[in-house]
Amino acid sequence: MPSRQGKAADGERKTRVAIIGTGLAGLTTAYLLHRDSQKRYDVTLFEQAPKFSLDAASITIKNTKTGTAERIDIPPRSFCRGYYANLCRMYDHLGVPFQHIQLIWVFARISAAAQTQVPSPEDVQTMPGSYFIYGKRLHEMLLISPHFWRGSVQTILQTLYLAICHIWFFAACFLFAPRMIKAETYLDVKSAAKGKSSSASSCESFRQYLDRIRLPQTYALYYLLPVLSIICSCSHAEMLDFPASDVTEFVKGSFLRKTYVARGGINRVQATLAAGIEDVRLETRVTKVDRVDEGVLIRSQSVNGDAAAAAAAAAAAASSEEVFDRVVLAVSPNVAAAIFNPSKPLLSVIPTVPVTSTVVAPLASGLSVVPEKTHVPSGECSYRRGDAQVMAFRTTFSESVVQTETLHYLSDGLVVRTSPVGDAPELKGTLDTARFTRTLRTTESRSAVQKLLAPTKDSDGEGLWTNGKDDVWVVGSWCWDGMVLLEGCVVSAMRVARDLGVEVPWER
Ligand SMILES: Cc1cc2nc3c(=O)[nH]c(=O)nc-3n(C[C@H](O)[C@H](O)[C@H](O)COP(=O)(O)OP(=O)(O)OC[C@H]3O[C@@H](n4cnc5c(N)ncnc54)[C@H](O)[C@@H]3O)c2cc1C
Repeated sequence: MPSRQGKAADGERKTRVAIIGTGLAGLTTAYLLHRDSQKRYDVTLFEQAPKFSLDAASITIKNTKTGTAERIDIPPRSFCRGYYANLCRMYDHLGVPFQHIQLIWVFARISAAAQTQVPSPEDVQTMPGSYFIYGKRLHEMLLISPHFWRGSVQTILQTLYLAICHIWFFAACFLFAPRMIKAETYLDVKSAAKGKSSSASSCESFRQYLDRIRLPQTYALYYLLPVLSIICSCSHAEMLDFPASDVTEFVKGSFLRKTYVARGGINRVQATLAAGIEDVRLETRVTKVDRVDEGVLIRSQSVNGDAAAAAAAAAAAASSEEVFDRVVLAVSPNVAAAIFNPSKPLLSVIPTVPVTSTVVAPLASGLSVVPEKTHVPSGECSYRRGDAQVMAFRTTFSESVVQTETLHYLSDGLVVRTSPVGDAPELKGTLDTARFTRTLRTTESRSAVQKLLAPTKDSDGEGLWTNGKDDVWVVGSWCWDGMVLLEGCVVSAMRVARDLGVEVPWER
């Protein structure tokens, strides 16, 4: 039964909304409902981790030699104007300043064994296997820089070849829209086994699109896929399975745009979004969400990190139950499918993969992680105006898988390695490791998300659960028709606000 029954502005009982997950999607939904002008919603946040997840993996690094401390956002959560239109409007509304970041890209081919070595900042641009450095926009290099024309013939030819491929790929994204293909879609494993499918048209895959526009394979393999697969944290093959429309829309939306991060760190965004929300259940894992007569039942468990406390809690009462009026699942699709049964048929076709980020410091560098309890992030962030940072794209071309990892060089020799695997090889000088789940896209999962968000007669006929049915919604970076990035978090949170009659302040 509800434990608290606040009153809305009109004297009515407030509607109790449980939001499960405290990433950007969960916190944005909470912010919007909590600030409803008619004060109709009481928001409760559930999070299995000991702190809000938006900033949970970020760390503060102290340099004992200089006495300085810097916040490092993990993941970096970069964005641009254009593609991230709603995120930018929200940041503007929250008063979050943007920090422009500049990167020098180093492309290298490495063996699996070499993945355990991290070149020093001085050696990164000449590391073994490196085949190209991309420091500025190609047109600037070609037209303005006198140094470029003084380079070796091979470099000049290679750059001209890349420039032509690059221009062709970008032009194609603007000129040739991805095709729609009639496809058989299986909505779950059971129906696939029974041969039960629904036929609908789906977008061609990125692989089919590249074939159609005849993009040279060398350019795709060595330059395009390393970058795109890092943006999506997956292997090259998984990237090629993405719907082509995801990539073409992303290219159009980010074309000639500067890259930004939230100045001072994402902790400011988190603090602003969560301000004033009192009912927060950290270390509480939701195990089941069920529609019942009185509302939506949530079953949850304490997941205190302390083993003894966890054992005691498990022995005392396996789980607690509470009924809410509305529930928002701000979790990855595999978790949503596991805890809310009706969503399973649509969500189980959406692939997810593990990703690992590791922070590494040179030995005897004097760098160490400041324990969270003793440090309140102050706003000094590792990205600074004017400093171009090196991002090395290291690709392993093995027979079983072709995949790229990045080494991002920050100040003081600090390096953040991001690998699209759950068990990345251990590195010397590791200060911190964080693991994430990344949602991928396929043409089939795109169709499933479309059915979920925009029910048609077909999906009604199939009796599928769709967003908002049973007073349960999904939000997240995967809950929109685009790349699985921060913009999807904001767009899906705004959709729930609209469904619940709440005005979105940055849309005014
Ligand atoms: C390495 C990496 C780099 C990235 N870089 C960028 C970038 O530069 N730009 C960009 O736009 N995007 C980037 N992304 C993507 C983006 O950061 C994520 O897609 C986005 O943050 C996901 O937010 P979310 O709110 O949907 O979900 P999440 O942040 O995943 O939040 C879900 C939360 O739900 C909690 N939870 C799960 N199950 C339960 C349960 N049963 N009970 C209670 N709580 C539960 C989890 O603990 C988690 O905190 C990156 C992602 C990764 C992994």
